[in-house]
Amino acid sequence: MVTTDMDVAAIPASALKGVGPKLREKLERLGWHTVQDVLFHLPFRYQDRTRLQPIGSLRPGQEALISGTIELADVVFRGRRNLLCRLSDGTGHLTLRFFHFSSAQQQNLERGRVLRCFGEVRAGSSGLEMIHPEYELLDDAAAPQPEMTLTPFYPTTEGVHQLTVRKLVGRALDLHLARLPELLPEALLQELRLPTLQEALVFVHRPPPGADLAELEQGRHPAQQRLVFEELLAHHLSLKRLRARLQRQPAPPFEKRDTLTRQLLAALPFTLTAAQQRVLDEVRTDLHQSHPMQRLVQGDVGSGKTIVAALAAVMAVESGYQAGIMAPTELLAEQHWRNFLHWLQPLGIEVAWLSGKLSAKNRRSMLELIASGRAPVAVGTHALFQAEVEFARLGLVVVDEQHRFGVHQRLQLREKGRRQGLVPHQLIMTATPIPRTLAQAFYADLDVSVIDELPPGRKPVDTVVVSDQRRDEVVARVHAACRDGRQTYWVCPLIEESELLEAEAATATAAALTTALPELRIGLVHGRLKPAEKEAVMREFKDGRIQLLVATTVIEVGVDVPNASLMIIENAERLGLSQLHQLRGRVGRGAAQSSCVLLYHAPLSENARERLAILRQTHDGFEIARRDLEMRGPGEVLGTRQTGEQAFHIADLVRDQRLLPKIDAAAQRLTDNAPECVTPLIRRWLGVREHYGEV
Ligand code: ADP
Ligand code: MG
Repeated sequence: MVTTDMDVAAIPASALKGVGPKLREKLERLGWHTVQDVLFHLPFRYQDRTRLQPIGSLRPGQEALISGTIELADVVFRGRRNLLCRLSDGTGHLTLRFFHFSSAQQQNLERGRVLRCFGEVRAGSSGLEMIHPEYELLDDAAAPQPEMTLTPFYPTTEGVHQLTVRKLVGRALDLHLARLPELLPEALLQELRLPTLQEALVFVHRPPPGADLAELEQGRHPAQQRLVFEELLAHHLSLKRLRARLQRQPAPPFEKRDTLTRQLLAALPFTLTAAQQRVLDEVRTDLHQSHPMQRLVQGDVGSGKTIVAALAAVMAVESGYQAGIMAPTELLAEQHWRNFLHWLQPLGIEVAWLSGKLSAKNRRSMLELIASGRAPVAVGTHALFQAEVEFARLGLVVVDEQHRFGVHQRLQLREKGRRQGLVPHQLIMTATPIPRTLAQAFYADLDVSVIDELPPGRKPVDTVVVSDQRRDEVVARVHAACRDGRQTYWVCPLIEESELLEAEAATATAAALTTALPELRIGLVHGRLKPAEKEAVMREFKDGRIQLLVATTVIEVGVDVPNASLMIIENAERLGLSQLHQLRGRVGRGAAQSSCVLLYHAPLSENARERLAILRQTHDGFEIARRDLEMRGPGEVLGTRQTGEQAFHIADLVRDQRLLPKIDAAAQRLTDNAPECVTPLIRRWLGVREHYGEV
């Protein structure tokens, strides 16, 4: 590590000349606390003002610096006053158009004057135009020279001008860049053909004339890739460190008894699939260790993760410990509770239930059951991990459908689970399988198991894509299915992040369907209903008293009603593939052949058509997630978009996939050869967020 007298991460941004208290406050909103933050504040686009473009070579849409002589200047009325100047440079001509202008401006812009302009070229009614370009009169002796570097544009915030940001970044570069330590070994950089940190930062802030603008704006330039690499490495090191720390914590090793697990297996109406058995063995091996299990179980919708969790819980109980099972929604938590009751009560294991909707009295008695240890298993929503919930001997935490929680929440949960000096084992389950390289980047602190097999006898869900102009036919199909004793879901998702709008859409659809199908019993669930109301409707649907259930995406995860064999999904083109796959997984659980109708609103873009076709072709959640990732990005796939969690500053896991396989080896090398660089690297990129990693 190159050391310097003063770390730029220790110099406040306000030390830069020109930053007073007012500006400082605004800059805080940009995330500028230290000079290091300023140096790492990267442009999102550039303009090329380094050279003049011949007017004859311009294309609409391009931003260009041009110069020429005014051949004609005129004020015309086109609804309002327009000042038009025809500018020519010998290679072609172009019209400058001003809607607002002073009389002084009008006088300046007269025939014969020589101008230099910068602006966006557009196709106008009589050839190329620039509207309100920036301009300078060149016959002014003081006209500045073209810029020496490409002009950067930075993300900024209200009340802070682009020019201010540019000026301050320039100052930080001139005065402080030299103090920024290089944390990556030279040999590594050479192998990867990446520039040094200082070279990279100078390049991205001040690209030289001729730098490839398209490459820069896509973030693919080696200078940017160098920064991306460092960021990915920092995240990876942070997760690895978290894992290493966790491995040093004491956890209760479970005993090798298996009377109760055998009893449970014997009572099941099915035998485990080979994949379930394999994953269960992996879990069992972990649970015998005296450091905490950190295992992620990925398994497609319907692959049977719940029973694996139940068996793990029984292992805890058999060793005298408690297990807490947490699900992301009331609906799902309650379903787990019922399953667990069904499986565990015959073994004499009491199962407590905790959710936000319990009455104060019930809640107290549940808390008592958990605290006294009389309930060895507790199932619930996040309510389970609130401060006042005290477990007597918590040994295992199961988190279902983790993708709903986001990475940081997962780490926080781990903290919550810790009691009395012992860290409980943790089993995380998700039906959103993610590709291996992505899993390595995101879950470097976890071991991963995969249930890659569905129980026998499942028939793939027949999937069709239908325009909503043919809604009547779809309604008739619903009618026929329900008349035959089958049940149907009608899902109304909205992309807007508003539960209210989503609820309104579902309510309107339910009303319309009630009119169209008066003889059917139709129910409605959405996120704005009270939990008790939601529960009542779901119960009626489960019991077959409701034939058609109109729902928002609240039913997305986990809900299990085997007699439901038809699903209609509206606005399908606006949902992620993995989400559609999850929804579709609600049907195809019983003996009947199931179908899923993806309704779209025409016209369908080429991209959307391709995406929906994927769902018709495959039922493999991994394949679907891989394609979703390619087409929509990791935020969708990992669900971090929903939790509002921004994982990376500049890395983009789709664009930068190529780098991912190199990260693990680089992390290892750095840890072996330059261990003193690890902490500064993590600090540089994760800053305060790293405290989630303190175990
Ligand atoms: P998911 O992995 O989506 O959470 P579930 O655990 O809800 O799936 O299981 C889906 C259904 O499959 C449940 O009704 C469950 O009882 C059943 N199931 C689980 N394992 C098997 C198996 N090995 N054979 C047959 N059915 C199974
Ligand atoms: Mg499940």
